[in-house]
Amino acid sequence: MANLSDPVSVLRGVGPARVKQFAQLNIFTLRDLICHFPRGYDDRTHSLPISELEPERPACFRATVMNTPRTSHIRKGLDLTRVQVADVTARLTLTFFNNKYAAEQLQYGHEYIFYGALSGDFTGYSMTNPVFERPDAPPVTTRRILPIYPLTAGLSNTAVLRAVQQTMEICDTPPEILPEAVRQEYGILGADCAYRAIHQPQSMAEAEMAKKRMIFEEFFVFSAGLALLRAAREGRSCAPYADLSLVEFEAALPFALTGAQKRAIADIARDFAAGKPMNRLVQGDVGSGKTMVAAAAAFAAIRNGHQAALMAPTEILAQQHYASLSPLFEKFGMPVALLTGSVPAKQKREVRAAMASGEIALTIGTHALLTDATGFADLGLVITDEQHRFGVAQRAKLSAKGGEPHLLVMSATPIPRTLALLLYGDLDVSVLDELPPGREKVDTFLVGESYRARINAFIRKQVREGHQCFVVCPAVEENADLGLKAATVWADTLQSTVFPDLRISLLHGQMKGAQKEETMASFARGEADVLVATTVIEVGVDVPRATLMVIEDADRFGLSQLHQLRGRVGRGQAKSYCILTTHNRSPETLARLKAFCQTNDGFQIAQEDLKLRGPGDFFGARQSGLPAFRVANLGADLQTLELAQQASKSWMESAGAAEASESAALRERIGELFRRADGTLN
Ligand code: ADP
Ligand code: MG
Repeated sequence: MANLSDPVSVLRGVGPARVKQFAQLNIFTLRDLICHFPRGYDDRTHSLPISELEPERPACFRATVMNTPRTSHIRKGLDLTRVQVADVTARLTLTFFNNKYAAEQLQYGHEYIFYGALSGDFTGYSMTNPVFERPDAPPVTTRRILPIYPLTAGLSNTAVLRAVQQTMEICDTPPEILPEAVRQEYGILGADCAYRAIHQPQSMAEAEMAKKRMIFEEFFVFSAGLALLRAAREGRSCAPYADLSLVEFEAALPFALTGAQKRAIADIARDFAAGKPMNRLVQGDVGSGKTMVAAAAAFAAIRNGHQAALMAPTEILAQQHYASLSPLFEKFGMPVALLTGSVPAKQKREVRAAMASGEIALTIGTHALLTDATGFADLGLVITDEQHRFGVAQRAKLSAKGGEPHLLVMSATPIPRTLALLLYGDLDVSVLDELPPGREKVDTFLVGESYRARINAFIRKQVREGHQCFVVCPAVEENADLGLKAATVWADTLQSTVFPDLRISLLHGQMKGAQKEETMASFARGEADVLVATTVIEVGVDVPRATLMVIEDADRFGLSQLHQLRGRVGRGQAKSYCILTTHNRSPETLARLKAFCQTNDGFQIAQEDLKLRGPGDFFGARQSGLPAFRVANLGADLQTLELAQQASKSWMESAGAAEASESAALRERIGELFRRADGTLN
C-alpha cells in the first residue's frame, strides 16, 4: 500500500517526464492526483448495432475486422489507414489518420469494441478515428463513463486516467471530514464512495452526486474555518474604550455626516465599548463616504491612547488617503505616516521606528504594512480599505500584529448576501445605504466607433467648462492579437492629433509607484485635463472635478469593475457622465452593457455580474482574497453554498465547535484552503 503523501513517481509508468507534466498541473503527490477531479464526463455506456449508428452521436459498437488494415502515405506527415469492419447488421469503413497503433493492433478476423460517430452523407457512411479496445480487456476508453480531466501539454487524458486508477488501487482515499450527522441530514455521499464515484462513476447521476459532495465539502470546510476564527476571537477580551465622544471630530469636518455614516460610526462605538475585539465590515457603494467612517474609528482609537493602521490595496489609494486624512488628524495633534513599497528605505526605517516608539498615531499604507518588520507600540485598530482584495489570511495576519486590535474592513463592492457570508462570515456588518447629499446619477451611454467625433467634442466641452476627464483603456500596450485600445498609444494619439491644445496625462500599472502617485496627485490638483489610464484608477481615487469617464472597449470589463470605474466621477457638484465604447456586436454583450447604462444600483449590478462571470472575475482577476476552490464554482453553485453554510453553522452551534477544533483532518483542510486564499495577494 502507498500513502497519500507519496510522490506520483511511485506509480508504474510515471518517470521523470511524467512527473514534470504532473507538476505543471500542481500535482505532486498521490493525494493531489486523487483530488484532480474531472472537468466533465463523456458517457460512453451506450451501445448500438452498426446499422443504427448515427452521425454526430458517438456510441459503442462491437464489430469484427474484415480485412488487413491498409496504410497509404498521402503526403509528408500524413498517413491514412483504412479498414473494413462488420457486425450482423452492416459493414463500415474505418479511417485513421497518422495512427500507427490502429494499423498495428487491428487484426483481421478479430472482434473489438469501437467507440465513435459516423461521418459522411447518403452516398455512404464511414467513421474517422474511432477509439477501440479488445472485448476481454477492462474498459478504459469504451463501455464506460469516461472522466475528462484538465490536461497539460504532452499529458493525455488516458495517462491521467490510468494514473488516477492506479492510485486508487494502491492507496486509501482521503479521510472523511464531514460529520456523519451532517451527511445524513443533507444526503451527502461518504468520502470514499465520492472519491471513487467522481473518477469512476457507474452513471451520470452518480457522478453528479460525487461532485455535489466535493462542492459541499469545500464550502463546509471554508465556513467552518471562518466560524472557528470567529469563535477564537470571541473568546478574547480587551479593555473597553472610555472616551467615545466624536463631537470634536465632527466639528472639524467640512460637511455633516450622513445618517448612514452616523449609524455605522455608532455600531463601531458600541463595539469599542464592548470589551471584545471588533470585527466589522462597513459595506457601501462607491462614494458613500466610507473613508470618514474609518477616520472616525481611527480618531476614537487614538483618543483612547492607541495607534491605528489603515491599509489600502494600491499605492495610489494609500497616497490619497494620506493626503486627505493627515491634515484632519494633524489638527488634533495626531501624527500620520505613510508606509508603502515605494517609500525610500531610509524613510521607511524612520517611519517604522516612529511607529514602534508609539510616536505615530495613524499609519496609512499598502500591504507593506503586513511585512514582519513592521511593529507597533500599541496597535489598537486595523482598518482595511476595499477589503475584498485582502483575504481572510491577511486579515488574520495583520490582526496578529497587535495584542488584540479592533478590525474594521471596508468594501465598496455590494456583495450578494451568500457571497458576503462566505467572504465575511466571521464579521459583523454595517451598511452605508445612503450617498452624501447633492449627488446626481451619472448618465451612462453605450456607443460604437461611429460616435468617436462626438465623444471627442464632448471631452472638449467638459474641459472648456473647467472639468476633467478620465479615459480608461483595457490594455497598457498595443496588442495586435486582441486589437484593444492601449493606454500608452491612445494617450499619444489624443495628445498629438486630437487634443494638441489640452493637457493629456497617462497612468498605468507598469509605471513606478512614485511616478504613478505623482501623476495621480497632479491630476487631482487639476494639472491635466484628461487622464488616460488603465484600471489602476479603479479603486477609491477621488477627483471631485472629474465629470466624464470614457471607458474604451468596455466589453472587456466586468460589470462591477465598470461600476467602480464609473464611481470615479460624480463626486463633485457638477453633472457627470460615463461613456462606454465597444466594437463587440454580440447581443449578450450589448444587452449586458445596456443593462449597466440603465442602473446606478451597485447591488443589482453585482448580482448580475456574479451570475455572468463568477466571483473570480467579479472581484477582478485573482484579487478576490477567496480561496481557489477546486471543484466549487461560486457563480453556479450558490445553492450548495447556502446549504453548506447552513450545515456548518448549525453543526458549529451544537457540538461542532469543540469537535471541529479536535478533528485534525478538518483543521488541516481549513489550513490548506486558507493558505491558498493567502496566495492570491502576491
Ligand atoms: P467611498 O465610500 O467610495 O470610499 P469616500 O469616502 O472616498 O467614498 O467619499 C467620497 C467623497 O464624498 C469624498 O470626496 C468625501 O470627502 C465626500 N464625503 C464623504 N462623506 C460626506 C458627507 N457626509 N457629506 C458630503 N460629502 C461627503
Ligand atoms: Mg474609498
